[in-house]
Amino acid sequence: MTDRKDEIAGNLAAVEERIGAACAAAGRPREEVTLIVVTKTYPAADVRILSELGVRHVAENRDQDAAPKAAECSDLPLAWHFVGQLQTNKVRSVVGYADVVQSVDRSRLVTTLSREAVRAGREVGCLIQVALDAGESARGERGGVAPGGIAELADLVAGSPGLRMDGLMTVAPLTGEYAGRERAAFERMMDLSTDLRRTHPAATMVSAGMSADLEQAVAAGATHVRVGTAVLGVRPRLG
Ligand SMILES: *Cc1c(COP(=O)(O)O)cnc(C)c1O
Repeated sequence: MTDRKDEIAGNLAAVEERIGAACAAAGRPREEVTLIVVTKTYPAADVRILSELGVRHVAENRDQDAAPKAAECSDLPLAWHFVGQLQTNKVRSVVGYADVVQSVDRSRLVTTLSREAVRAGREVGCLIQVALDAGESARGERGGVAPGGIAELADLVAGSPGLRMDGLMTVAPLTGEYAGRERAAFERMMDLSTDLRRTHPAATMVSAGMSADLEQAVAAGATHVRVGTAVLGVRPRLG
């Protein structure tokens, strides 16, 4: 256990150094960027270690794994982010522990989130997940709405009881015009964020960048990076 804590502490320090260097290079204060550690596939014991090491934001992508983990860690001062594709039949469970749902990408999900948040007496922060590789009206293969669909969804979230319109999230596309051009993809996200803030000034979060491309995200202006592998190690393959 001590070994694991040392390992995570070392990785965390290296990631912290990367974020610090990226902020310095971009002329941004370090406090502008929040580290979210993606704990998917890793046990609650690792979440506890992260909390002891000062991490305050964790993310999960599957409710089946996240719900018991969050319950085991309910004594810890952590904000839980849900970052996976979310089926409406899982929303009641997710709303029970998630402070922020980063994968909002369709109106039916918004209405279900609102209903369940109200029922649970909770306020849930929402990020619209943007698929930069989707066509103008289509949805992305890994979830996410095309840029043209952001405004309508944002209005719906903002008008829904129990929900808070917090901003945008994306995963750098593997295909299409932005494949291999993470920096350009994240800069496009910042433009979309500027547009969104004209009508929703409080929706300032831009969640972008993972282990491999956090520097490009920080350079573009991301406010939140979601880092898994670089902190916890290479994930065992899911069946
Ligand atoms: C797994 C995951 C991450 C973290 O990816 P790493 O490459 O392990 O840092 C970030 N965002 C989402 C949506 C994920 O599913």
